Amino acid sequence: MLFSIGWSVNLTSLNNTIPDGRPSTVPADTGLWSAQSQNSVPCQFGWVTHYTDKEYVCRTCGAPCIFTAQDQKYTYEVKKAYIDQERKLCRPCWNQSNAIAEQIKPYVTRWAAEKNGLQNDIAFLAEWLELLTERERNLSGRFDIAQKNVLIKLIRKAGAR
Ligand SMILES: [Zn+2]
Repeated sequence: MLFSIGWSVNLTSLNNTIPDGRPSTVPADTGLWSAQSQNSVPCQFGWVTHYTDKEYVCRTCGAPCIFTAQDQKYTYEVKKAYIDQERKLCRPCWNQSNAIAEQIKPYVTRWAAEKNGLQNDIAFLAEWLELLTERERNLSGRFDIAQKNVLIKLIRKAGAR
């Protein structure tokens, strides 16, 4: 039994759109998966024998993308990602999302160190909120809004003083 991870694609139409002639299917070595992946049902039953190019649509910008078979092999066998991990964003949106995450880090660090002073600093809070909102646009669906709500409350409180 052959099991191609994720949803199947119409390979005939897909191959017409691949200009570089890379293999659209590569063999899988499930022995290199993470322990958690090796405990998954598809692995236990030996269903996964290869990876196949998968089409998806970027959740942020709607661009059509391909999670290539080779990239899947790298993701699951080298990076040891869990086997049901899928791609959601195109490369530019993914890079932008990471860039925003980097910009958010210093706000978290400063907040941890100077919370008392910063909770009245509307500019600081508003900049942080803006970054979180931007990141939320990138990651629609799996974003923790608790931090945003805290900031909104703080800004209202600081503004009322
Ligand atoms: Zn995109």
